[in-house]
Parts: sequence; C-alpha cells; structure tokens
Amino acid sequence: MSKNQNGVSLTSVQALDQNDPLANFKRRFALPKGVLYLDGNSLGAQPIAAKKAVDDTLDQWRDELIKGWNQGWFDAPERLGNLLAPVIGARRGEVTVTDNITLNIFKLLGYIIGQRQGERKAVLSEGGNFPTDGYIAQGFCRISGAEHRFLPENSDLAEHLDGVAVVVLSQVNYRTGKLRDITATTRLVHAHGAEVIWDLAHSAGALPIDLNGSGARYAVGCTYKYLNGGPGSPAFLYVHSNYQDQGWQPLSGWHGHASPFAFDADYIPANDISHFRTGTHSAIIYAALEASLTLWAEVDMAAVRAKSVAMSELFLACLGDIFHRHGIEDITPASSQRGSQVSLIDTQNGYAIVQALIARGVIGDYREPGLMRFGFTPLYLSFEDVWLAAQHFREVVESGEYRDPQLHVRGAVT
Ligand SMILES: *Cc1c(COP(=O)(O)O)cnc(C)c1O
Repeated sequence: MSKNQNGVSLTSVQALDQNDPLANFKRRFALPKGVLYLDGNSLGAQPIAAKKAVDDTLDQWRDELIKGWNQGWFDAPERLGNLLAPVIGARRGEVTVTDNITLNIFKLLGYIIGQRQGERKAVLSEGGNFPTDGYIAQGFCRISGAEHRFLPENSDLAEHLDGVAVVVLSQVNYRTGKLRDITATTRLVHAHGAEVIWDLAHSAGALPIDLNGSGARYAVGCTYKYLNGGPGSPAFLYVHSNYQDQGWQPLSGWHGHASPFAFDADYIPANDISHFRTGTHSAIIYAALEASLTLWAEVDMAAVRAKSVAMSELFLACLGDIFHRHGIEDITPASSQRGSQVSLIDTQNGYAIVQALIARGVIGDYREPGLMRFGFTPLYLSFEDVWLAAQHFREVVESGEYRDPQLHVRGAVT
C-alpha cells in the first residue's frame, strides 16, 4: 500500500507528519495497538497521565479518607474550570466543571428566565441539534410555564426570535459538523433582546474559541469528547463575569450555596461561578480530567485547527471518487465552516460500513439515519493514521465486505 487509487502517496503523508508541530502529543496518549481511532468526537482517547492521577486519588482516598476534600477535591470544579478557561477563550472565574450538559442547560435556562419578568418567555431549541438539548428545554418549559419552540433546521435565526427569551445553539452541529459564527450569532440574538446558551460539545478542544471576544455570556460543553477527560467526565459551564450575580439557578444545591458548610436552612446563592454547582462530585473522575486539562494547557489551538482541517481534507482527498460511485453522500461542510469531522450519509449501508471498519480496527461512529461520522483529533492522530483509515474505508466499500449480515445487527450503543 504505497499509494491509494487517488494518488496520495504515503511518503507525501509521512512528510506532513515530520513537519507537524503537534506530533509529540501522540506519545502522551495510551492508544491500543492496531487501532485507528476516528471517534474522539464521541469519547476522547486516554492521556497516559490519567491513569496515575486516578491511582493517586484512590491512594489519597485510602490514606487520607475524608481529609481529601480539603486537599483539592472540593475545589476541583473551579480549579479545573480555570485550567480549561484558556482553551475556550474564557477568563479565570468564568468556568466551572460540573454535572453534565443536560443539567447545565437546565440550570442556565432557569437562571436566565428567572431574570425576566416581561412577556418574553419562549425558549428556542435548534432543530437538528443533539436531542438532549431540546429534551431538557422541553422539560424545563413544562415546569416553568415557558413556551418551547423549535428553530427549523437550516432556517434564518433572525426570523424566529420574536418573543424568545433564550435560544440554545450548538457552535458545531454534531451530525453535519457545520460550524456557526459565534460572534455574529451572539450579536444577532442580543440585538433581538434574547440570550443564547452556546453548546460547545463539538467545538471545545476541536478548534480555537474566543468566548469573551465573541460577546458570549453563557455556554456549556462536555469534557469527554475532544477534551479527553474520560467516560462520564463532568461537563463545563461558562458565565461571563458580568453576569454571574443575577439571581438563582434552579438546581439550588448545597455546593452552590454562598456558604456550603454553614448548613443554613435557606439557600443563598454563591455570587461567583460556584453558584452553578449542585451537590457532591466524584473526586476520581476529576483526577482523570485534570490530567488531561494539564496537557491541554500546553496546546496551541491555532495549530490544532490547522491540523484538523488538513486531516479532514486529506481523508476526503483519499476517498473523493468513491462516494459518487457507491451512492454515499458527503455532507461535510466546506473547510472554513467545518468542525473537526467528516460526515457521510448512506442510509442503506452506513451502519454496516462502520461495523466493517470497526472489525478492521478503524473506529468511527454511526448515527441514525444513515450517518457515518469520522472525527479528527490532532493531538493523537497522525496524517499516516488518516491515510490508512481512508485506505480501509475504500477497501470495505469496494470489496462489499459490509454486506456480511452479522455487520447489520445493532448493539445497544451505536
Ligand atoms: C455530546 C453532547 C451532549 C451530551 O450531553 P450530556 O448531558 O453531557 O450527556 C449534549 N449536547 C451536545 C450538542 C452534544 O454533542
């Protein structure tokens, strides 16, 4: 395999790896041998340092018992928030790491709607977004009396903001990989008298984000995708420093109280970002995430973006002709409007193609209906990995290997 049918030579790809300023990060991840991992957009790979960090925390639990809470466990949400802040263009004190995205959206919806006494009560969710964002908005509206609306996919946001108090938008769409202009969109929503909660699940760690510079006031995102925090690692929540003292978030728990250990009967919200905590968190999973965020502090996000675009372009260049010949639709946006993934649709065979690739050690993922996603994570993928993965894709499709009936059987998690 020195050349694939598209004429992209392995030596040209190896030259890209030799000139890659991020190449050294790959050694700091524990990747299984023989696996080409293109699913870091769903669950990031394990930083080698995570294992020792978790082990150390287990030892700390064993040796220090409850004293551990005063040895860094209790402060972890804001300490990790401060580590993460530069990766998303936030300042110290603007980010906490807590709960999951679903709960964090609920908290922000209540916090924002609670500040409004007027007529505007509608919550707008983005059609075609990751479903939990809409589900939790619907749940919030049922108990708050706010009206829930969907923004139709591919429609003009400006035409749907009448009477809207808050809109929940993804910066990068999880299916298509389409990137929104966060600055222009934030400005538009504010000009209509509404607020926007940005969901950065598919952009944090995937591309440079300037939350402060964009004028964003509220954002959430997860840490187990591009940020490599580990399965179930907590989400983050950002509130601009000028908007942290505006009332209550509705999941008012003891860790978000102004004095959690005063054990007052009445809730008094903390007047900083810790207000968005709820209750007790896992010191163990925070340890894994801290190891990862410590690594991110060394990363140049502009280099991440450049490599991400170059890798997705390489993957598409290696496969260009094959989509048309095999009825696969390439819905990947143009590179300037792309997150860090390639999105392909084959409603008949997409699932089985992904299964056949997994059987070969090439891990991508599948989302209904018909969507094959391949995520590009510049810290632990080389250009050679991408070239090899494309070669496998070509072989699976051209050989008809995916027709094996066993590859069409669905598991519980796809
Ligand atoms: C992955 C993802 C989520 C996950 O939400 P959790 O509550 O953290 O499980 C939410 N929104 C988007 C856009 C996602 O991509």
